[in-house]
Amino acid sequence: MAASLRLRAAASGLRYWSRGQRPAAASLAAVCSRSMASKTPVGFIGLGNMGNPMAKNLMKHGYPLIIYDVFPDACKEFRDAGEQVVSSPADVAEKADRIITMLPTSINAIEAYSGANGILKKVKKGSLLIDSSTIDPAVSKELAKEVEKMGAVFMDAPVSGGVGAARSGNLTFMVGGVEDEFAAAQELLGCMGSNVVYCGAVGTGQAAKICNNMLLAISMIGTAEAMNLGIRLGLDPKLLAKILNMSSGRCWSSDTYNPVPGVMDGVPSANNYQGGFGATLMAKDLGLAQDSATSTKSPILLGSQAHQIYRMMCAKGYSKKDFSSVFQFLREEETF
Ligand code: NAD
Repeated sequence: MAASLRLRAAASGLRYWSRGQRPAAASLAAVCSRSMASKTPVGFIGLGNMGNPMAKNLMKHGYPLIIYDVFPDACKEFRDAGEQVVSSPADVAEKADRIITMLPTSINAIEAYSGANGILKKVKKGSLLIDSSTIDPAVSKELAKEVEKMGAVFMDAPVSGGVGAARSGNLTFMVGGVEDEFAAAQELLGCMGSNVVYCGAVGTGQAAKICNNMLLAISMIGTAEAMNLGIRLGLDPKLLAKILNMSSGRCWSSDTYNPVPGVMDGVPSANNYQGGFGATLMAKDLGLAQDSATSTKSPILLGSQAHQIYRMMCAKGYSKKDFSSVFQFLREEETF
């Protein structure tokens, strides 16, 4: 067992057994209930659309939280619920030896880790730092090196599933890092997701996430185009969505997150594209895909086109709307 894992195991009261040391069932039950009672605080940095429901799921599983967000209002709910709110990422690292970050971009993650009051200023040896933000895999690798120098462990664990899955605890986590540490990460990530997948070395979680989101952007634009065309041909949007969802055009964007207002309840298109996954964040992820495609000499013809569309949307006032607002964007475009 890695030294850092042992340190955390000792600190948290959790037990890890090597072969032949496992206690009998009765004493195992006793140990398990003790470890449940002695859950140590988990740091959580970045309580936005995703971080907020993810942190709440950790609370539901009995983990006390140490909270920080640059935007103080994001912490209010947690303070009101009795969780500890601190004033910098460094203060989080001083009080918790397991920290999850859920931040918008690479720059924000660098600031939270390496900034003047960043995690690295006060990180404890043996700490486990899990970054669930979607950022550049190269930045994840750099952060991992910095963290390692401090005697701690870094893993990238970006998520798929959107705000709904974050609320219901059904996210998919794509995890990159030292395999020996995966079980320790899984203990926390399993409280927030139904799939926790080990991808390989640091940065591979981000690689998987970038590929997924490029496909998502392409399929969302495709769904919006098809729905818009059908509506202009006189079809009822609900009927068209129903047909697509029982046909070969079906995809997540059509059956779970339909971009057309009035087709589904409980999705951003039903709420003027508020909340959800911002168009800016999608443009950011497509930029990461573009950079990765350039460095690996991979053709991404549709991915590049999707990147341009989301950049254009951001320039035309859609930046704060959910990425499914590409439907509204297309509605405003009329061509010959
Ligand atoms: P968000 O903008 O809603 O929330 C980010 C939070 O981080 C904000 O509260 C902000 O104040 C805070 N923050 C920014 N910089 C900070 C810093 N230096 N220190 C502390 N707090 C800081 O973003 P989100 O939608 O929650 O997305 C977070 C990440 O998850 C992004 O990388 C995004 O690409 C990814 N993601 C989002 C979704 C989604 O549906 N929203 C789905 C999958 C993945």
